Amino acid sequence: MAKRLQGPKGKEINEIVDRCDRCGGELMAGKTTLEIWSGEELLVIKDLSADVCRQCDEAYISAEVSVKLDHFLAEHHWCRPERYIAVPQYSAAQAMGNSGKI
Ligand SMILES: [Zn+2]
Repeated sequence: MAKRLQGPKGKEINEIVDRCDRCGGELMAGKTTLEIWSGEELLVIKDLSADVCRQCDEAYISAEVSVKLDHFLAEHHWCRPERYIAVPQYSAAQAMGNSGKI
């Protein structure tokens, strides 16, 4: 049984079958990178094993990976990150209008 992890907090998990539930495409074994908000922190977890849609690249992680990920998210503060990356943040006003344009 495969499960899907989605949403910015990685909390919404829906069961899926062998086909992409977004486009109906075929899934194949691959890797995905997840971005997950944990409180005020944005965590990036690279190269997780996942089933990836051939058509739209939507990734689905297994129940096993999902459980391990939940454990990691509860205890990640004990683990030194591989590296830190800078993430640009924009306001809605910048994204929707002209303010902030150079
Ligand atoms: Zn798809």
